[in-house]
Amino acid sequence: MTTTFSPTISGQSLIAGRPVTGSAGTAHAINPATNKKLKPAITLIDGNELAAATAAAAAAFDTYRATTPAGRAAFLERIADNIDALGTELTERAVLETGLPAARIEGERARTVGQMRLFASVVRQGDHVQARIDPGLPERAPLPRLDIRQRHIGLGPVAVFGASNFPLAFSTGGGDTASALAAGCPVIVKAHNAHPGTAELVGHAITRAVEESGLPAGVFSLIFGAGTSVGQALVADPHIKAVGFTGSRGGGTAIMATAAARPEPIPVYAEMSSINPVFIFPGAIKDDVDALASGLVGSLTMGAGQFCTNPGLVFVPVGAEGERFVAAASKTLQATQGSTMLTRGIAEACAAGVSKLRGEADVDVVAEGRPGPTENAPGAVLFTTTTGTFKDNIRLQEEVFGAAGIFIRYTSEDELIASAEALEGQLTATVHATSSDNTAIGPLLPVLERKVGRILFNSWPTGVEVGHAMVHGGPYPATSDSRSTSVGSLAIMRFQRPVSYQNMPDEILPAPLKDANPWRLNRRVDGTVISAADDQ
Ligand code: NAP
Repeated sequence: MTTTFSPTISGQSLIAGRPVTGSAGTAHAINPATNKKLKPAITLIDGNELAAATAAAAAAFDTYRATTPAGRAAFLERIADNIDALGTELTERAVLETGLPAARIEGERARTVGQMRLFASVVRQGDHVQARIDPGLPERAPLPRLDIRQRHIGLGPVAVFGASNFPLAFSTGGGDTASALAAGCPVIVKAHNAHPGTAELVGHAITRAVEESGLPAGVFSLIFGAGTSVGQALVADPHIKAVGFTGSRGGGTAIMATAAARPEPIPVYAEMSSINPVFIFPGAIKDDVDALASGLVGSLTMGAGQFCTNPGLVFVPVGAEGERFVAAASKTLQATQGSTMLTRGIAEACAAGVSKLRGEADVDVVAEGRPGPTENAPGAVLFTTTTGTFKDNIRLQEEVFGAAGIFIRYTSEDELIASAEALEGQLTATVHATSSDNTAIGPLLPVLERKVGRILFNSWPTGVEVGHAMVHGGPYPATSDSRSTSVGSLAIMRFQRPVSYQNMPDEILPAPLKDANPWRLNRRVDGTVISAADDQ
């Protein structure tokens, strides 16, 4: 295992293994705690430099997707090792560029390398290939059946747009990159301009893993440029076959439109905006409300509220118990202090969203936290309104990306269901209740299943586990495609498609489908799963 790896941040894109000085101008990262520029200047690429990256990715595809499970898994593990080997340099640069604390960045690095290693284990195990065999039935009457076999292959080169709020776990070497590489797809990352140095360091770690693994250099490129120019051109490039994106609804929908308007439209997996409703039932606030109140405020203010799973709407029953809960949460929130947001633009967008809410009729501020001592560190805010106002005002569903939430007071279960029906698609919905609430919860659950990707009980939506059963997705506008998840091992399926082989001689069938099962895969034979252990 590599122990230390100290590449220099040069501000160059990394195109198919080569550092490239962009010829379309420069930009700088800005330290959000001070609003001061960080060195070095980042050079932005032009159309020719982009074309070199996409052509190299297309040229690398067939060789890369032919890698064995062991070879591809070892490559993913090398990436993880190299990101670990970047040491404190990576943490220090990410802290400077994002304003996030070092402990948070370290936690995120652990998650990033953990998910890379998870995908290595998925590739090694092999179920993602989804091998199916319908053996020929030559004696079948009235017509014989030919031998038909199916497996999944990678879609082709994937464009990844990293998120501002997870500079490691949803960025250059994050979940989209890990799942696309695991699926056998070359990746081109459009670096987020808010953390280019962090992106470059991780880009070097991946580039080095490509070299160490003897893979074609086009398997990975990292490019610097503005989303509206280079990002759009990347999505429109005919070599690109799918897109992974995390960011704003405006950015995501612009990319969806470009992808759909191509002569060959391609799938876009965009994770965009969610306000993650929380439903408090009477049983949850009957006795002690303090623990629940501090849980809510902790989740709302964590990371300056810059999580896509931030709980932005909290439905609370009217009456004395609801009042006690709102008062306890308000008191806890008033004791909080803001922390630096990721960029000045994000802090300004947050302030504009809060200001809009202040101006809405029948929406009142119930508590405000103190601003932090740095630039771009607004205090948290809690508002209150009623279900009637909420249902009639779609603006209350606009994501305020930051520590801002709205209590919505309800008087009956019918009001709760009607409010849930009025919700746009969400990543999560959370229920706080005891068994005494089970009858009331019953009719809400089918509504929530239609609206969200993950339903939580007596916990908080921030903090997404990376595993096999996780869904981090949901109906539009939470994501562009609710049939998938961007977190967890199922994310690999987004970047694959099935291919069937009919009557193909065994000698030339791909390895996963050969009679001898050389990759030792679990395979569905004539509809029945035959485990690798039984397939001797
Ligand atoms: P963003 O502005 O959507 O940017 C994300 C990435 O997409 C960046 O690389 C950006 O390029 C690119 N991009 C933006 N508009 C584009 C367009 N029209 N065409 C092609 N590419 C485009 O998101 P952000 O900077 O991370 O955060 C801004 C807002 O997004 C936040 O205030 C928040 O509302 C939302 N957000 C949501 C989530 C979530 O998980 N739901 C996460 C983060 C942010 P540049 O680098 O050139 O800008």
